[in-house]
Amino acid sequence: MMLNNPICNSLQNVQQRIEAACRKSGREPGSVKLVAVSKTKPIDDIREAIECGQIDFGENKVQELTSKMEQLRDKPQWHMIGTLQTNKIKYLVSRIDWIHSVSKVKALRELESRASNVQRKINVLIQVNISNEEQKSGCEAGELNELLSYASDLKWVEIRGLMGIASFEEDPEMVRPQFRLLHSLRDESKAYEAPNVKLEHLSMGMTHDFEIAIEEGATIVRIGSAIFGERNY
Ligand SMILES: *Cc1c(COP(=O)(O)O)cnc(C)c1O
Repeated sequence: MMLNNPICNSLQNVQQRIEAACRKSGREPGSVKLVAVSKTKPIDDIREAIECGQIDFGENKVQELTSKMEQLRDKPQWHMIGTLQTNKIKYLVSRIDWIHSVSKVKALRELESRASNVQRKINVLIQVNISNEEQKSGCEAGELNELLSYASDLKWVEIRGLMGIASFEEDPEMVRPQFRLLHSLRDESKAYEAPNVKLEHLSMGMTHDFEIAIEEGATIVRIGSAIFGERNY
């Protein structure tokens, strides 16, 4: 542990806030996985976080992600959290651990075929548009059933839950209903569970709103600026 570097301090601080939010809502402190979002940040920042014990990292651009995966070889668990273009899936499958942003049958089909080529099972979350903003990606709530039943016939795609991005509100309390919506969609979709379709995870909550997300049942939070500092772009 290099407890004196600023990234270690921020990580510890975020972990403490996660634990406090768990206690407040009567949840086990270990029930929330922290994905450190390292987009736009240099590889040395990721190395520092790894030295402080951080395991999971998230990126939102395929090119930056593949370059960082290459430089850090076997080390972290990698999460693709950005909008997923179907034609880029082939660059990810040999190394990616989780994809949070699948929202089309077409992407599931391509993922199955590419994952089968490399004989790797990939953890997938279905991204749902919970903010009702046009520019935010994700499927509509009404499309979930089709996606989940399509996925249940696949062999290399492991559906692990749902992902959502709330709208930005000055007061994070305002997005609680959006997190609650994702939670209830997960519960309603349980009927579609299959050997490779398990809806145990809710990936929701970022720097500005993760405590609310945890209170509403998040099991994965994706946090960037509270760990690595503000991004310039
Ligand atoms: C950038 C990003 C995050 C992290 O954002 P912060 O506000 O810096 O915590 C989380 N999720 C997604 C999908 C992102 O693109």
